[in-house]
Amino acid sequence: MAPTSSSFSSSHTNGEHGYAEIDWDSLGFGLTPTDYMYMLKCSKNEEFTNGKLIPYGNIELSPAAAVLNYGQGIFEGLKATRRKDGKMVLFRPNENALRMIKGAERMCMPSPTVEHFIDAAKQTARANKRWIPPPGKGSLYLRPLLIGTGPILGLAPAPEYTFLIYASPVRAYFKEGGTALNLVVENEFDRASRGGVGGVKSITNYAPVLNAMTRAKKKGFSDVIYLDSITGKYIEEVSTCNIFMVKDKIISTPPTKGTILPGVTRKSIIEIAREYYGFKVEERQIEIEELMKADEAFCTGTAVAVVPIGSITYQDTRVEYQTTDNNDSVCKKLCSTYAAIQNGEIEDKKGWIVEIN
Ligand SMILES: *Cc1c(COP(=O)(O)O)cnc(C)c1O
Repeated sequence: MAPTSSSFSSSHTNGEHGYAEIDWDSLGFGLTPTDYMYMLKCSKNEEFTNGKLIPYGNIELSPAAAVLNYGQGIFEGLKATRRKDGKMVLFRPNENALRMIKGAERMCMPSPTVEHFIDAAKQTARANKRWIPPPGKGSLYLRPLLIGTGPILGLAPAPEYTFLIYASPVRAYFKEGGTALNLVVENEFDRASRGGVGGVKSITNYAPVLNAMTRAKKKGFSDVIYLDSITGKYIEEVSTCNIFMVKDKIISTPPTKGTILPGVTRKSIIEIAREYYGFKVEERQIEIEELMKADEAFCTGTAVAVVPIGSITYQDTRVEYQTTDNNDSVCKKLCSTYAAIQNGEIEDKKGWIVEIN
């Protein structure tokens, strides 16, 4: 007799074909806990060795942990997707690994090697395989964290670090037709400053933008566009995605020189635009006034993929961009190629796809 097993097993039963039993069509962007997380600790001056998969759950921290007191931590975000051909794949995980290494250096932390990072991401995705949504329904978002967990009172790098990866299924961003973003230009708060940490995925970059973001959302906007902190004239990015504009078929995006997060999606879209379509892509400073006169504008990021901007509001001016049913748009072209490479509908000539199974 197993009187207590029913409640346990009800959350652990697999539906058809080994999927977790949830309604895949009502998946959102919120956290859906999965079965396992990858975890590994190492001391200062040591190297990360092999970690292990443990059941997903709370972790214990000293109140004096560096991450809690001084924000010593960085994160990453990448997706595992299930294709129609049955393959389960990651997209350019080496780019996330390299970015984590750069961020760790900036924040005085040891970091896992590229090989180790990719292996850990694969293990996490594999262990939570039943949570990788059916093809077309979304993906399993992997969230690697690298945090200073050792206790420290005086300001200094932590004596111990934790590398952890947890996972949550999220829906595909694009509903049919695509939901264009309505952005507002932020004119009070800056996201990043010269010499700061805007160019790495430091956890310290995100709480300070909540204020601007929630204020914008209350007014009905999707998110905000940040301007450079020196002149307040040039566009930088959105809270968690990069920004592009198109004018006379030339694609432009601000250069990632320390205050802008170098997105993997940004980099991939630049390569797709140049190599698959022969578009001219410029990485240069863009004045907000120029963006307001663009033919098209769009955002890129792992969470949103490539999403058109429907409107931008700057001071008292709102401009709208033609987006709906615009199959000829540059954004649509790049977005579909980006998706097709991930789905395996276009050959992966560049070695971007890493199989996990
Ligand atoms: C993560 C992130 C991006 C997008 O990076 P991807 O690697 O494409 O997901 C852009 N801007 C900020 C601030 C980010 O945190």
